[in-house]
Amino acid sequence: MNAILLAVVFAVFNISGAIPKPVPFVTRQGESVRTFSYNSLAANGPPSWFSLAPDYATCGSGQAQSPIDFPCPADLEGTPDILEEEPVLSTTITKLTFVNTTGNFELDCEQEGSCGKTKFNGEEFDLINIHFHSPSEHHVGGVTYPLEAHMVHRSSEGALLVVSILFSYGGEEDCITSAPSRKGRNRSFSQILSHVLKGRSEFPVNTGAFLEQDTSFCMYSGSLTTPPCTEKVTWILAETRQTISPLQVKLFQKIVGGLEFGNARPIQARNGRTVAFALDLISA
Ligand SMILES: [Zn+2]
Repeated sequence: MNAILLAVVFAVFNISGAIPKPVPFVTRQGESVRTFSYNSLAANGPPSWFSLAPDYATCGSGQAQSPIDFPCPADLEGTPDILEEEPVLSTTITKLTFVNTTGNFELDCEQEGSCGKTKFNGEEFDLINIHFHSPSEHHVGGVTYPLEAHMVHRSSEGALLVVSILFSYGGEEDCITSAPSRKGRNRSFSQILSHVLKGRSEFPVNTGAFLEQDTSFCMYSGSLTTPPCTEKVTWILAETRQTISPLQVKLFQKIVGGLEFGNARPIQARNGRTVAFALDLISA
């Protein structure tokens, strides 16, 4: 980062004393608070998550964990028959609540059912949360991206589905699709950053802002990427990349506490899991 960019970053933060201070890594599942780290060398780093609490065991023993490095289509044999229908996303403009924990920049839906939904394989999933990882947790053909958004959905039966969107600086290429040729800041992410920097804890968000109409997608069955690493999570990766600027990524990292080690769990083994490609993800 050059000196001018640094000056801009610090100028923004100097006038933004109202930003909620990050709190340590926590999981909000269960009653107790167990801390975990993204520093692979730390005693509570990703290789040791499984040992931090009895219900984190799946982080070590699970055979269908996330994230994964998406393989190239040429390596796959057709479309698996688990896809009975195309996913249909219904998004909306709604108020989301900003929650800032170290390593997590979360936008929560307070009124579940009112923030958008995804229909997939005959089941309906409500959007409950949007959050971000930097660098990206999922890779594509070995390529890592500067930012990844997760749109977390839950069905009435408690099943989880996450729609993932990758952000590119432009110029990077992977085996699925070319990265966007345009470069520069992402207008929708700018709006979110602007609300956060002004200290707002609740603000309107277009929950479909990062999804292109009729983009293709890849899907597989994986897990939560944070403890307790629960499995049977349906992952849908939108093929179309969003653009992001280096300054926006720096701002995000600053807001969530620097991210010295990032907030991306290392890539997990596929263990023979099927990845489906290139059907239409319909944004209704
Ligand atoms: Zn996530």
